[in-house]
Amino acid sequence: MSPVIGRLAPTPSGELHLGNVCAFAAAWLAVRKAGGRLLLRMEDVDAVRARQEIEDGIRRDLDWLGLHWDEETERQSTRDYRPTLKVLQDHTYHCGCTRKLLKSLQGEHPLSCRQAGHETGPLRLALPTQEVRFDDQVFGPQVLGLDPSQDPILVRRDGLSTYLLAVVTDDIADGVTQVVRGADILPFTAIQQYMWRLLGHTEPAWAHTPVILGPDGRKLSKSHGSEAVASLRERGYRPSDIWSQVLPWLGLPSASYPAEVVDLFDWRRIPRGPIQVAPR
Ligand code: GLU
Repeated sequence: MSPVIGRLAPTPSGELHLGNVCAFAAAWLAVRKAGGRLLLRMEDVDAVRARQEIEDGIRRDLDWLGLHWDEETERQSTRDYRPTLKVLQDHTYHCGCTRKLLKSLQGEHPLSCRQAGHETGPLRLALPTQEVRFDDQVFGPQVLGLDPSQDPILVRRDGLSTYLLAVVTDDIADGVTQVVRGADILPFTAIQQYMWRLLGHTEPAWAHTPVILGPDGRKLSKSHGSEAVASLRERGYRPSDIWSQVLPWLGLPSASYPAEVVDLFDWRRIPRGPIQVAPR
């Protein structure tokens, strides 16, 4: 069997929070248990939002938490996504819809735009009406529908590649065989799997970890600064304090570091969540 290749793919526009830590811990544990290789990839495709000091902070947090990677791959801001677009050219088209029109259609994209032959504007991927099936390691068998009224944007109006174009291109280029991330991305997995196949590759194993909610019941994000790893460290928390909270979210006993529970890691033990952080 070919070796498992996993990745940590932080976006350096927001500090690492406990939701990221949960997904990264699962990615780390799964690779270590399989004796595979773990890559680090900085997902700074949105160069406007990415910030060097946040990237430095993420590296410091990962190191402090003991989530070490084996190899760093090319960051998104220096990659060339044009070869992927070339392969997909029969499936893409420029969108001429105004924001106002899209708003009035409530997110549904008109099929007529595909035939309009626009020469500028965001580049969209034409989706078929099709069911996509995969077996998520945590969420089990999935049947998700592709819908032509949801043709996703691959290149923005300003020329920036989107997350979708970047992540699929990178995962293929990096030889990733196992993608582990938060369940908020589960709905986008169908399009990614469709793109993997259009590009002539077999998709990786997919695994989605429970969404972590803040004490206010909303998904942890940048706005929950107090649940950021850096903030917890500043308040005197140690890595073992973080791990005794996060490892049980993956169905594992609390431990000082994930390295102590590698043997116990099992996809089937991971709850599907969502999980809410208690107020501190
Ligand atoms: N960079 C993405 C994030 O931070 C992760 C993308 C992925 O794992 O597919 O949410």
